Amino acid sequence: MLRIARDYNMAIAGTPSFPVIPEVPPYKDPSAGDIIIRTSDGVDFHVSRRRLAVLNARLDGSLPSTFPSDPKSKPSISVSETSAVWEKFLRVCLVDEELSYALDDISSLVETGLKYGIPAIATRMRYALVGPTALEKEPFRVFLMASAYGLRDVALVAARRTLRLEAIDHEAFGALKDVSGLDYLELLKYRSQCGEAARAVVSPPQQRGNAFKLPGWIAEHPEHWSLLAVTCTARCASDTRTVSVTEVEGQPTTTYVCVRKSWIAYLDALGKTLERRPWGPGASDPELLEPVIVSAVNCQTCAKSMFRSAMGFAKVVEARVEQAVGEVRMLTDVRTL
Ligand SMILES: [Zn+2]
Repeated sequence: MLRIARDYNMAIAGTPSFPVIPEVPPYKDPSAGDIIIRTSDGVDFHVSRRRLAVLNARLDGSLPSTFPSDPKSKPSISVSETSAVWEKFLRVCLVDEELSYALDDISSLVETGLKYGIPAIATRMRYALVGPTALEKEPFRVFLMASAYGLRDVALVAARRTLRLEAIDHEAFGALKDVSGLDYLELLKYRSQCGEAARAVVSPPQQRGNAFKLPGWIAEHPEHWSLLAVTCTARCASDTRTVSVTEVEGQPTTTYVCVRKSWIAYLDALGKTLERRPWGPGASDPELLEPVIVSAVNCQTCAKSMFRSAMGFAKVVEARVEQAVGEVRMLTDVRTL
């Protein structure tokens, strides 16, 4: 019916038009189709046997071998699911539109698809799994579902999204009966490796003699260490540590600059946080940056610019962390891509 409506519009207007979604879905039209699907709560849906055959649906075994000669007399198939399940299922199968579905719905739709021989339903649900609602709110569950349904690219996106959460929500497992232990272990390993990679970005400053050594990407690049260096000779200078840095990028000449103690503490605390939660934007966590900003609040020279430079450095750290995490690969990357 949808295709007919679209073709009709095109024929009348002579130009393509937007698809027309019928108010009543075809499967609810008693004049449509040649078989009836009768749900466990007694609702009839009218579908075409040919359309079901195109979908490779395994309903044929329930159909009579010969059809009644009267076209108004349609054979019916009783199914064990409710009309709520079949309405959504038929809409996905027979109507060309993308609706948003809750994860519970997706789960029951895929299970119904598998039961009736239409595994492609899982692929059809791909857009719903990567929708912002599902992915942002329940990345663990999206990972598990996508893994179970063979949608590895979706699983990888979801795995990355879990990094912003500190711990795995074990309630996500309750809704899935067939969670694979391998998938779960892979996710744990991936999160652990991402934690190590993120922590390495801000590895704790090491004391070398009278000076501290910062991570190489900071100490060897003036554009980065200059964001931390204290040039103020007022009261700030007394609250610093001396660190060794490369004076000119790419050259071996080392020099010494002063960096606020609060920045050293920030890098140390951030490393511990990133190990549990390897998520770049965590570098801008106000709780971590507050001591740095407060350390300049009583200095007339630094107070005005401290917030801006603190946020600037945090953004650089964020980009570095995201880059490091992006280089971590799950086993499934190799297995499936
Ligand atoms: Zn100052």
